[in-house]
Amino acid sequence: MNSAVIINIAYILSAALFIYGLKELSSPATARRGNFISSVGMFIAVVVTLFNQGILEYQWIILGIAIGGLIGAAAARTVAMTAMPEMVALFNGFGGLASLLVGWVALYGAGTTTFTIITIILSVLIGGVTFTGSIIAWGKLSGKIDGKPILFSGQQIFNTLLMLGILVCGVLFALEPTNLTYLYVIIALSFVFGIMFVIPIGGGDMPVVISLLNSYSGLAACAAGFAINNLLLIVAGSLVGASGIILTKIMCKAMNRSLSNVLFSGFGSPKQIAGEVEGTVKPIVAEDAFYILEAASNVLVVPGYGMAVAQAQHVVKELQELLEKNGCEVVYGVHPVAGRMPGHMNVLLAEADVSYDVLMEMDSVNPRMENFDVAIVIGANDVVNPAAREDESSPLFGMPIINVDIARTVFVLKRSMAAGFAGVQNPLFFKENTRMLFGDAKESISQVIREFSG
Ligand code: NDP
Repeated sequence: MNSAVIINIAYILSAALFIYGLKELSSPATARRGNFISSVGMFIAVVVTLFNQGILEYQWIILGIAIGGLIGAAAARTVAMTAMPEMVALFNGFGGLASLLVGWVALYGAGTTTFTIITIILSVLIGGVTFTGSIIAWGKLSGKIDGKPILFSGQQIFNTLLMLGILVCGVLFALEPTNLTYLYVIIALSFVFGIMFVIPIGGGDMPVVISLLNSYSGLAACAAGFAINNLLLIVAGSLVGASGIILTKIMCKAMNRSLSNVLFSGFGSPKQIAGEVEGTVKPIVAEDAFYILEAASNVLVVPGYGMAVAQAQHVVKELQELLEKNGCEVVYGVHPVAGRMPGHMNVLLAEADVSYDVLMEMDSVNPRMENFDVAIVIGANDVVNPAAREDESSPLFGMPIINVDIARTVFVLKRSMAAGFAGVQNPLFFKENTRMLFGDAKESISQVIREFSG
């Protein structure tokens, strides 16, 4: 068997491991194994590629692996769970930059056909947009750049001219590939385009943008795979491209918004509370909450962004254990867009060692909602807002929510009457069966725990 056949067989094995790993990543219970299986696939792919006879010098490759490996390991070990989307944004960006460089270098390979030139242009263009777009997304998420949408007059004309410039240079470069000036202009314009793509979007929408840019980084890798004629890069790039766009779609659907609304409406910016609600709010103290919880036999916990802010996941787990000891069944209802990144609540609850068996999706808890004695809403707001179901004029109308208002009693733990991410009033707080436990979620739960211990 010659080496080309061995390499291709190893690539097929790697591709199969990627696909199986991805499948395992779709459930929290198997996600770690999925990650490991995919990385084994990538290890095989890298090792086999290094045996390619075309490679003459290894010292640069080894140096690159050592430096990249060290940076990656240090970043993964030190990053706070809440800063994970920022890290993903940075890594995405560098993935795009890597594809740009691979595409560029393909120009110096043997026999560049028009097809190869087109794939080089695509990998450089998409890679460049992904790089600067991700850096801006990272800046907005980490607060290093103002999260407000940046809009200026003539923005659309500017963007159209940018696209035209890229198109014209692309055609000229395809006709005259020896003139590298065209390529340099495409690289420069793609960097500017990445910035222009992300600045008009509000900081709150960055997780959706990052997921979309993740998909772009896959497409850039796929184009680079065509440019250097590497099958596995094409497969891996397509998988990243497809999964990124599926995740983007899931997030938009769970927010009941279209992708164009996310990209072009400047929605994710800070805003005033909108909407009027009639009724009275009924505040309670930890002692009252304790008496009701002590008598409950079914409790639903619905975490939201405020649980992440308060870092209340460990005390939530403690309360769960106390309730269970008291003979109560406790389950968690996790909304797909609770928090500020996909899987935000799952990550926090996993950190507190909450078992996957008690984590339930919105569609599983909603049908049995009226059987819960108490639904405890911990720092969630939009994802439990009944206006999404009842008020056609609400910006949230149509968004699927966790129907906690149908539970027998609802506790809402938050610090004030402030609105959530969407900036709209929440009629849940005024319902007959709702009790507000005001204060920082961690502090409020700790007080209830103290009542139990007392
Ligand atoms: P929300 O942002 O709607 O509400 C969070 C609530 O937490 C606030 O009302 C706030 O009220 C409360 N809070 C903040 N800090 C604390 C604290 N220390 N203790 C107690 N409460 C606190 O969160 P949800 O999770 O319900 O909804 C997520 C929103 O984010 C949705 O609108 C979703 O569309 C959007 N989104 C989600 C993304 C994702 O991937 N998950 C991505 C982009 C947007 P108060 O200030 O009074 O305490």
